[in-house]
Amino acid sequence: KPVIVAIDGPSGTGKSSTSKAVAAQLGLSYLDTGAQYRAITWWMVTNGIDIEDPSAIAAVAGKPEIVSGTDPGNPTINVDGTDVSGPIRTQEVTSKVSAVSAVPEVRARITELQRSLAASAEVGMVVEGRDIGTTVLPDADLKIFLTASPEARAARRSGELKGADVNATREALIKRDAADSSRKTSPLAKADDAVEVDTTELTLPQVIECVVTLVEE
Ligand code: C5P
Repeated sequence: KPVIVAIDGPSGTGKSSTSKAVAAQLGLSYLDTGAQYRAITWWMVTNGIDIEDPSAIAAVAGKPEIVSGTDPGNPTINVDGTDVSGPIRTQEVTSKVSAVSAVPEVRARITELQRSLAASAEVGMVVEGRDIGTTVLPDADLKIFLTASPEARAARRSGELKGADVNATREALIKRDAADSSRKTSPLAKADDAVEVDTTELTLPQVIECVVTLVEE
């Protein structure tokens, strides 16, 4: 039976790096669900949809075709046949993704895509997100919830963004996490049966080893 690993948590906890490395080491596929929400947000922005208007977003939530490549060595994301791996990481998309992903019709659409990708994984899949263990795949074989102090998360994120202001990054992170945690439909949350790993004092290789060991147990 294919093994399904859910890795949830806020941003800046090393979730993506950990999930990709664990999948690569164990020969599993990898799904970046944040990239799917970013992709649908990119499409909304590109098509001039009013991000402040949930009903406008809901009305077109089914329109874009979103295709995820699940090779952990080369994860890809396409919208209507266009590779949007770069454009989905802009500050504009990052600042709008929480509002778009709070719309129930958007979540229903993306959740359906996620479940069908997980069901088609031959060896198994590492699925990275915010609500995988609680909502998308409640029967996952292993659920991990990664945490880290706000300072550690902001420092890691500004390191990634090369030279970005740590305080501004910290503010933006806190705002996005608060929005993700307080939305009505499947908020960012730890599942009751998830293993919580605090990464504040750990290096990336240590976090990877910890999760690999948990999968192999
Ligand atoms: O993981 P990443 O930072 O790329 O996620 C971008 C955004 O997508 C999150 O801030 C959140 O609003 C949304 N998201 C979500 N549910 C998921 C994954 C991401 O709502 N499972």
